[in-house]
Amino acid sequence: MPASKGYAALDSKSPLAPFTFSRRDPGATEISIEILYCGVCHSDLHMARNEWGQSLYPLVPGHEIVGRVTAVGKNVTRFKVGGIAAVGVIVDSCRHCAPCKRGEEHFCDEGATLTYAAKDRVDGSITMGGYANSYVVDERFAHTVPANLDLAAVAPLLCAGITTYSPLRHWKVGPGKKVGIVGLGGLGHMGLKFSHSFGAHVVQLTTSLKKKEDALKLGADEVVLSTDAEAMKAHAGTFDFILDTASAPHALDPYLSLLKQDGTLTLVGLPDQPPAINVFSLITKRASIAGSMIGGMPETQEMLDYCGQHNITADVEIIPIQKVNEAFERMLKQDVKYRFVIDMSSLK
Ligand code: NAP
Ligand code: ZN
Ligand code: ZN
Repeated sequence: MPASKGYAALDSKSPLAPFTFSRRDPGATEISIEILYCGVCHSDLHMARNEWGQSLYPLVPGHEIVGRVTAVGKNVTRFKVGGIAAVGVIVDSCRHCAPCKRGEEHFCDEGATLTYAAKDRVDGSITMGGYANSYVVDERFAHTVPANLDLAAVAPLLCAGITTYSPLRHWKVGPGKKVGIVGLGGLGHMGLKFSHSFGAHVVQLTTSLKKKEDALKLGADEVVLSTDAEAMKAHAGTFDFILDTASAPHALDPYLSLLKQDGTLTLVGLPDQPPAINVFSLITKRASIAGSMIGGMPETQEMLDYCGQHNITADVEIIPIQKVNEAFERMLKQDVKYRFVIDMSSLK
């Protein structure tokens, strides 16, 4: 079993530190990847610190993976040694339930296998994520990458990209729709780029007014400081759809007040505390609160291909892995422009 080097949290209180573990050789339908880049998602921080109460240690985070294929099993058809492959938030599922059959593996009836801190369906080990120099995955859960895109800037598409693309497609965001994006971080900046690309009128809602110029450059038609009650009031009752990517606990009523009748507020951010809402915010306009989680394998590939066609990638700050704890701290201070990506050559 080949050794893999990475960074792990050994418990919920310690910073990430160098860690060596083993990966299996690829099975018949699996590929081995030498990881080139891995994005730093806020979920990695929530999980490393056990903020959702489901973490397993040692925990190697990372589910925005782009790498070079180093070995393929004998039945692999979509990848060749030397090619590029990408892996996102899930790496396996039951493959026979109705959601799996229709390509919504993230909604697998038996529970999809997460890229890290989950029980591996193949060998029963605990999955170790992409803050490491290698990964082994079934080709069904790997994606091809359009050749025209920068690989470091592609990595965040595997979580931040699909998590925003999927709900924007599901709720049919496009021309004639006024759309709000809550939070300009990793997810938020991708939601902004996609909404703009889909032709909607998009308003960035942010608690950091210093991000205003960037938001306009990233595709926002307007930027609103969400803590400014007067500025929010000026938009009351005008939004068709709002995508909430905020990572910290926050009141939903100010955002619900922005919706039109029958509008939807879709939550993708996962604060560690449940939200409090005033039901009157819903009944007075038959508003909906919904949630959305990543996307299935076919839609993830569709999103990557769309990004290739429209030249969309993340805005990234590339860091060596030795700076990952600093990146976590900056993420907590909302100081992200707009996704940290680890250059895995720093592990050597
Ligand atoms: P991030 O880069 O740290 O961005 C989060 C942004 O949320 C911040 O930059 C900030 O934007 C905003 N924010 C923070 N505190 C806020 C508050 N109290 N009120 C309003 N806005 C606030 O994080 P990320 O990687 O984009 O992840 C965002 C969340 O999505 C995390 O909870 C993560 O776990 C979750 N997530 C969910 C899925 C899914 O499948 N549903 C997938 C990936 C991630 P401003 O400075 O602009 O206000
Ligand atoms: Zn993520
Ligand atoms: Zn299934």
